[in-house]
Amino acid sequence: MGRTDYLDKLNDKQREAAMCTEGPLLILAGAGSGKTSTMTCRIAYLIREMDVHPYNILAVTFTNKAAKEMRDRVQKLIGEGVNMWILTFHSACLRILRRHAEVLGYGRDFAVYDPTDQKTVVKNICKELNIDTKKFTPSYFLGIISHCKEQRISAKDYNNIFGTDFKEQMVGQVYGQYEKILKKNNAMDFDDLLLKTVELFEQDEEILLMYQNRFRYIMVDEYQDTNMIQYTFLRLLADARDGDGNVRRNLCVVGDDDQCIYQWRGADIRNILEFEKDFPGAKTVKLEQNYRSTANILAAAHSVISHNRGRKAKKLWTDAEDGNKIIYYNADDEKDEARFIASEINRLAGADEAGEDYRQFAILYRTNAQSRTFEEALSTRDIPYRVLGGLRYYDRKEIKDMMCYMRLVQNRADDLALVRIINEPKRGIGGKTLEKLRTLAQVRGSSLFDVLLDDEVIASFSSKVSENLRNLAGLIESYGIERDNMKLSDLYDGLLVNSGYMKALEDQHTVEAESRLENLMEFKTVIAGYEKEDPNMNLAEFMERIALLADVDNHDAEENAVTLMTLHSAKGLEFPYVFMPGMEDGLFPGWRAFDREDGLEEERRLCYVGITRAKKRLWLTSARTRTLYGRTDYTRESVFLRELDQKLMDGDGIYEKKDRKTEGVFRDGASAGTPFKPFDQLKYAQAQTKQKAEAMAKAAGQSFQVGDRVAHAKFGEGRVLEVSGQVIRIEFKDQVRKLALGIAPLEKL
Ligand code: ATP
Ligand code: MG
Repeated sequence: MGRTDYLDKLNDKQREAAMCTEGPLLILAGAGSGKTSTMTCRIAYLIREMDVHPYNILAVTFTNKAAKEMRDRVQKLIGEGVNMWILTFHSACLRILRRHAEVLGYGRDFAVYDPTDQKTVVKNICKELNIDTKKFTPSYFLGIISHCKEQRISAKDYNNIFGTDFKEQMVGQVYGQYEKILKKNNAMDFDDLLLKTVELFEQDEEILLMYQNRFRYIMVDEYQDTNMIQYTFLRLLADARDGDGNVRRNLCVVGDDDQCIYQWRGADIRNILEFEKDFPGAKTVKLEQNYRSTANILAAAHSVISHNRGRKAKKLWTDAEDGNKIIYYNADDEKDEARFIASEINRLAGADEAGEDYRQFAILYRTNAQSRTFEEALSTRDIPYRVLGGLRYYDRKEIKDMMCYMRLVQNRADDLALVRIINEPKRGIGGKTLEKLRTLAQVRGSSLFDVLLDDEVIASFSSKVSENLRNLAGLIESYGIERDNMKLSDLYDGLLVNSGYMKALEDQHTVEAESRLENLMEFKTVIAGYEKEDPNMNLAEFMERIALLADVDNHDAEENAVTLMTLHSAKGLEFPYVFMPGMEDGLFPGWRAFDREDGLEEERRLCYVGITRAKKRLWLTSARTRTLYGRTDYTRESVFLRELDQKLMDGDGIYEKKDRKTEGVFRDGASAGTPFKPFDQLKYAQAQTKQKAEAMAKAAGQSFQVGDRVAHAKFGEGRVLEVSGQVIRIEFKDQVRKLALGIAPLEKL
């Protein structure tokens, strides 16, 4: 390779940007215009042509994956081992702090607390301050603390600004204690990494000067997603003075305001929009040629994003051919949608075009819970897939946990399942308690569960632990008795609520907990599917079927496989064939977006990110009815579909079907044709689940008498023959059943 071959491959604008090495530089350009490629070449140019030592370069990105990719690419260009700071924001800060933490009063070997550690700290504080963690969870406090740190509001500031009402005073107290304890433990949390680095730079001019001198060239990819504190960090480093006292700012930022998708996490789109103002004398290079996608795909992306108001007008062009039109498929339901996508992949992968190369396909969805139907459709057709940046549905913790509850109900001797859930949700059962139970089981040659039924053993623990263990044992036992007398869906709802599992997640109020709740509610769809097929399917049969699904092992970690991931994690990546399913109001855009104007704009940018991942072909799909969280409803096609230029679409273009009558009523009670306001389906599903469990529990409180007429959720109407203790005998139409009062879904008529 010639010395500057890599520069020859760039277009004029890109080359101009790569060779502009002094002063502030903004590369503002649309998706797929070679921003990341240009930045990589710029690093190579600095090292190879400008004789800049790699030591003097700092390049930051957002994810470890992006950082690694950039390191690999630079390595390829300069052809030697590079020991350069191409890092995420967090890891760059960690490196700096490891060297200078003493200045801030920390030891150099300070600990970095992950979210679990943080929760433990807050829990202890709450105990000390007598705060009811059932009402105010550790995650509640941590959410506020993190938000404050992003905004550089210290505990002291917080108490000065807020602190009038009871709740704020409480938060202020917890925050103050939290800071004290972390400091005392010589520990920092993730937010601290950035915050403390900024503090370090502000406090110690010498250290700042050292880094300013070292990092003579600073580069940032995906600049549109930086938040306030990241901005401050960059600004401090870039405000260097040279010998004459002139400000030298060799800061090069790269980004696309149309791809800002992390405002919900504090990203500030103004950072990129106001770069020229913030760094006077900045040069701006706009790249306008897109090299990634066909003309049709690009036009489709443009027709959607142009509906956003607060954006810098820019239009990409391409000399690529038009390519195929965007295929739109309006499926009957979500299963049909998944079937369609799997069959399209089969069709193309079988043909010459993609030729068995499954790597070329990606399915990009809005929420993780959507992955399940695709995983099923792909595995039934033996198409290898991998879930990127996440786990396969049946590998997710919450799904495994709930399956273990069901396994135990099915088979009490399943020690593995018991060990998994004995402290899920938290019941204060630690390693010691578990060890004791295990030893006993071993000595007696019994199952762990049988030990739990031994009241003498249980009574030997602290009163809290023994109460929790008794409740758990009672739960499993009673559902075990009743399992064949219940509908699967009732059994699942009952376990979810009465085990406390759902409540524990609800109390967290975090994005992660919400995603887990979505997955758990999605399990109701799985159950609804089987119940529809066979209303009398019992737990044993169900568990067998699920075990088969959960066991599929045709996903290929690295090799030739279809990629499944969320739209958010697809930022910066590209695939020849892209599917975007679930194009429905309420799902994408998500229901929350309808509450706020800028909410819809952020979702629209996400849609733009999705469309522009596609190189050759793009499919958009929606389902006329969708079973979400166990409930089937009619849907509306996404507003983004309506915005997309119809001339670019093929397949079930929405306007063709405009006069197709949609029967039935939408979930908000509006009939077809009236404006549809999506609502929080997740909250609704949670509420339904609780209601059902409550109704079942209420039956326990009723007193039944011989001769009472009752209705049972599974067996229909019947007459009470006998009540003795917790057991009730009922004569149904063609059978007599003994049921357990307390969980039998009975209603007095
Ligand atoms: P995104 O906004 O999605 O992050 P980007 O602007 O960073 O996109 P790149 O990922 O750098 O774009 O490039 C997109 C595609 O275009 C890549 O496949 C890259 O190899 C190709 N590409 C970039 N510049 C050129 C060029 N001058 N000639 C040919 N191909 C190019
Ligand atoms: Mg990029």
